[in-house]
Amino acid sequence: MPIIESTRAVTRWTTRIIPVILVGAVSYATFAIVGRVCSSYLINKRSELGPAIVILVLYFLLFLLMVGTYLRTVATVILDPGIVPLGPLAIERRKRAKDNRRQGIQGHDLESRPYYGGIDFDPDSPGLEQFYTKDVFVCENDGRPKWCSQCCNWKPDRAHHSSEIDRCVLRMDHYCPWVGGMIGENSFKFFVQFTTYTACYCAVVLGAAASSIRKEIKEGSPLDPHFIAATVLAAFFGLFTFLMTVTSVRYIILNMTNVDMLGSRTKVHQLAVRVPRGTESTDKFTVVTYPLPKPEEVTNGRSNDTARPRAVESRGVSPQPNRVSPSSRDDLATRTFAILKTEPGENPWNMGAWKNWQSVMGTNVLDWILPFRRSPCVNHESHESFYPMGKVLADVLARYNLTDLAFKNGAGLEMKELRRGNRS
Ligand SMILES: [Zn+2]
Repeated sequence: MPIIESTRAVTRWTTRIIPVILVGAVSYATFAIVGRVCSSYLINKRSELGPAIVILVLYFLLFLLMVGTYLRTVATVILDPGIVPLGPLAIERRKRAKDNRRQGIQGHDLESRPYYGGIDFDPDSPGLEQFYTKDVFVCENDGRPKWCSQCCNWKPDRAHHSSEIDRCVLRMDHYCPWVGGMIGENSFKFFVQFTTYTACYCAVVLGAAASSIRKEIKEGSPLDPHFIAATVLAAFFGLFTFLMTVTSVRYIILNMTNVDMLGSRTKVHQLAVRVPRGTESTDKFTVVTYPLPKPEEVTNGRSNDTARPRAVESRGVSPQPNRVSPSSRDDLATRTFAILKTEPGENPWNMGAWKNWQSVMGTNVLDWILPFRRSPCVNHESHESFYPMGKVLADVLARYNLTDLAFKNGAGLEMKELRRGNRS
């Protein structure tokens, strides 16, 4: 699998230099705390073995946890950043652009120009079925999922295109040069563990160095410059990582990301919610039926090769008159969705603080503290939605009087009914 890097040269170099800075800072902190504070000052000069042992145990415990979570985060953002696969057109175009660059062809041929990555109106567009086999997904006005014109793919709920790495990222949070890549749903848990342990590690360094300075001032001996340098370093990195931790924990509890927060107070989410087949549009909502019909199924013989997004049945019009003998694939597996809107500022994925926390950090304390298992929210196998939804969805259904209708007819039931109907 190719390594995902920033598209900007400056960021790529920053990303490569930062680990060197971090190794330098941690090596110096180890020298200052183990060599100067514990060994030279507390043990040799003041014979305070007890406090020295406490500091050393805390120091190395947090050191291990910090390094472990750092490596886990870096490995995840580089090897498994949680990106959405490119669409066929984007794969083809990027491959050609790469070949052209390799051959030194630049700018003057068609293939190297920015390409048109508009919505794929093919009813069988690859990837569409991953949406309409769920009960709820985020959609546009025509009932199709969101489309990324750079990646030429359908964007799963909460995925965003990152211009930094030029790919769509699942539950994207931010690009972090400190860990060398994009923080998204795969790495967020490890990232929060890393910032938490680093803040605690800095607190131990700060406490050990600052208390030694206090003792030196009390006894009137000259100040060790390494104590002062360690205090300053620990205060700087400690404050930075502490603020990062507080912000991240707040996002986890609210089930938000840095990207979700942008304009979140006024943001309206548009959801396609599965309703029984045959449900018609009303003056409150329109419906869309998947699989989308082929143009000849929509148009009563008129040619319509621009493939208008047919499936939004206009208000008050039955879906049937426009359709000419639906194909058997449609008979067996059509799914109808009502297109509904949340109120501004509502977050459909907010399940309450406790469940939000568990969806990212895991369901038990070991998961919370150790960087082994991935977040439960990275599992997208549920047929309900890409991410579990909370009370807002029930509120939205109630507002549209769909509480009793939504999700009621399972696909299996519909299939059985159809087969029975066909036999009779
Ligand atoms: Zn994209």
